[in-house]
Amino acid sequence: MSEQADQPECAGGIRMTRERVSADKKRIILNGRTVDVNQLVPIKYKWAWHFYLDSCANTWMPTEVSMQKDIEQWKNPHAFTPDERHVIKRNLGFFSTAETLVGNNIVLSIYKLVDNPECRQYLLRQAFEEAIHVHTFQYIVESLSLDETEIFNMYRENKEIYEKDEFSMSCTDGIINEKVDLSTPEGLQKFVDNLMAFYVVTEGIFFYSGFVTILSFGRQNRMPGVCEQIQYILRDESIHMNFGIQLINTIIDENPYCWTPDFQAYLVKRIKRAVELECAYAKECLPRGVLGLNVVLLREYIQYIADRRLEKLRLPRQYNSTNPFPWMSEVIDLKKEKNFFETRVTEYQTGGALEW
Ligand code: MN
Ligand code: FE
Repeated sequence: MSEQADQPECAGGIRMTRERVSADKKRIILNGRTVDVNQLVPIKYKWAWHFYLDSCANTWMPTEVSMQKDIEQWKNPHAFTPDERHVIKRNLGFFSTAETLVGNNIVLSIYKLVDNPECRQYLLRQAFEEAIHVHTFQYIVESLSLDETEIFNMYRENKEIYEKDEFSMSCTDGIINEKVDLSTPEGLQKFVDNLMAFYVVTEGIFFYSGFVTILSFGRQNRMPGVCEQIQYILRDESIHMNFGIQLINTIIDENPYCWTPDFQAYLVKRIKRAVELECAYAKECLPRGVLGLNVVLLREYIQYIADRRLEKLRLPRQYNSTNPFPWMSEVIDLKKEKNFFETRVTEYQTGGALEW
């Protein structure tokens, strides 16, 4: 062992240390300063390990789901109105790139700064799931013979999608391109802002609005293959979001100096801004409303889920809206509602009640 092994380690380092690891010395961030980051056991953050196990029990592949009915329906010129085709394509356009954004942020930002091994175990699994989700949208676009150039470029060519992605990516740059010092309040706040933008806003708000829109078709037995895949993605995303919120809350508990009233007010403002971006997107997707979905109901739903995310982050509710789509809570529980869309059932190995 070199003398260097005793030097304090910075975020991102993986140097071997001389001392045995004790769980109580572990931290979520700047963990390498006190313990060896290569050692999973002893596990301190049991929740992170359980999120990992729960995620592994949800392993699936998009290609296991038949797209036959969807292909027949999509080819039938009478099966969808132009407004319906528009909203389906917009959502595919949004998701096809947003999943990549999330994957990139995990690997290039979060993984670097969260150097606790049990959290990293979960992050490795989540990164794989994001690859599966990217694959899903590629598979859907290919199966339906959609114009891939149109769908995959939508994130730069459609203003409303661009603005949502801009919101998320604006807090990736500062982390990847600059050296963030997590031992300062500014550095830590920058990182918490990044975690919020991805786990709470992108995965917890933007995605849920897309899920409810696509799943509305499934409720009428339309696009059953796409909807089955969206159900699996929804289940994955609910774990991603819950892991992210637990991660944020634990980082704040361990570093309370960053949780200033100004910073809390800033985060509430950011979430309210995200709600407006999502409502603007909904308006462009649904200029006239389809299938009992319209801008008014979607706004209600977006505000309702934003309040729930805020509460979990121990921040004040802003809207007090009610859930206009109570059926969404049934979709998540695949055990109870296996035949929700009367499609082939791909059973998960396990599946407890998930908070979403
Ligand atoms: Mn995803
Ligand atoms: Fe995700």
